[in-house]
Amino acid sequence: MISYLYLYLYNKQSSYQVKCHVKNKSKRIFIAAFGSETNSFSPLPTTIESFQKNCLIRPGTINWPAIANDGHSEFLNLAQKNGFTAVRGTFAYATPAGPLTKNTYETLRDEIVAQLRSALPVDCILLNLHGAMIADGYDDCEGDFLEKIRQVVGPDIPVGGLLDPHAHLSDRMVKAATILLAYKEYPHTDFAISARKLFKLIDQATTGELKPVMRSVDCKSIGAFPTTSSPMREFVDQYLLRYPSRQIMDCSLIHSFPWGDTKDAGVKILVVTNDDPQLAEDYAKTVADEFLKIRSHATQSLDTIDIAFKAINQEKKYPVIIADTADNAGGGASSDSTFLLEQARLKNIGRTAIGIFWDPGVVDLVYAAGKGSKLKIRLGGKASWFSGTPQDLDVEVLELRDDAKQYFGDGQDRREISLGKCAALRSGNIDIIVSDSRIQVLSPDCFTAFGIRPEEYKLLIVKSSNHFQAAFSEVSKNIYYVATPGALNMDFESIPYQKILRPIWPLDQ
Ligand SMILES: [Zn+2]
Repeated sequence: MISYLYLYLYNKQSSYQVKCHVKNKSKRIFIAAFGSETNSFSPLPTTIESFQKNCLIRPGTINWPAIANDGHSEFLNLAQKNGFTAVRGTFAYATPAGPLTKNTYETLRDEIVAQLRSALPVDCILLNLHGAMIADGYDDCEGDFLEKIRQVVGPDIPVGGLLDPHAHLSDRMVKAATILLAYKEYPHTDFAISARKLFKLIDQATTGELKPVMRSVDCKSIGAFPTTSSPMREFVDQYLLRYPSRQIMDCSLIHSFPWGDTKDAGVKILVVTNDDPQLAEDYAKTVADEFLKIRSHATQSLDTIDIAFKAINQEKKYPVIIADTADNAGGGASSDSTFLLEQARLKNIGRTAIGIFWDPGVVDLVYAAGKGSKLKIRLGGKASWFSGTPQDLDVEVLELRDDAKQYFGDGQDRREISLGKCAALRSGNIDIIVSDSRIQVLSPDCFTAFGIRPEEYKLLIVKSSNHFQAAFSEVSKNIYYVATPGALNMDFESIPYQKILRPIWPLDQ
């Protein structure tokens, strides 16, 4: 039977509909996004303005911002391709920072729940979550949010949640959702693949072809586990991407976010099977055992600032890359710390480029002065005690751009991300990219967009923990991950946790 898909698009002045023929009876799917990665130790609160600054898109928006071009866009594309009537809820994503204010969380939660209520009846729901959101009064935002969603639709409507692996998986989340599925890769280069898989499984659950059952096992561990190198690469390939039974539909390694201080923090294995709880439990235990065998070899090891700067002069190929791992905006840091800039000035090792500093005050000053001007600025070191000492610099304004972008991922997973209102400044032999927005460095676009050619530099310093690695490895294999002070301090034993459940490795044996 032929039916029609009506996709309604609105703007303030007019509304119109796009109609296309589809072969299946049209199912109604509600799609929304709500997430952030809360760093309990970040000095920056997360407010409604934080969501507005990054991505807060209400139903009716026609021009979908590029930043939303991730798993969420894939849900919408798939809904259209598969003849679903997509009812779009709010897309709310904030750049990681400290906990959400209570009002921020409750306002956005209630907004999406009300949208769902007015969209009823729906056949299924897909939510693009992060999974590590903490708010004042809510240590498990996603558990609370999913419960509210479940209360609206009742027990039988399939609810799917797409997670970042740096999520905190709680029993409340597992109980309230039908299927939770996390990206498998870190760096997260598999947004679209994961979204497509979740869409397919939720579609099968909607028709009754699949009866999803989830089970999880707690590995009682925290850490950072990049999947690009051994032994994590083999672990992902062997256990997360291939399964010993056709009844195992998915297996996710929930890495957790070690700077989120909540009782649900910690590595977990989450398995989805077709109507087989025992198989889900058994496979989760098997994979957990395998993870425990490799965890101490799978964590990211860091160099000290001193070791990295000494090593640069021994290298035979340039540029060398230093990652400022603890000042990564993508994990909630302020991105205004000056420890590595200070060292670069002291050591004076040759042409250096560093970015991206968050300093809206400096951006205002240099835009007022104009391209080509020379002025004295005080850069960085402002957000908190672990931002270091502000740097007083004589700079020349090389370039001003508010339309620069960086690109992350390949093919259908390729995302375009705005760099904000930016300036490229030169101080001696150091070139500095500064923005009015907190931006994690993901690709060399952060430099090339301003005429900085990496091959002409001896050292590139990037404010990023690991996501830069995929694109920067094309520029240089000489990468030093450096332990710096900051909101993403990797010396877990020195972090003043209050809520994380003990014992947990590596804090306790
Ligand atoms: Zn992540």
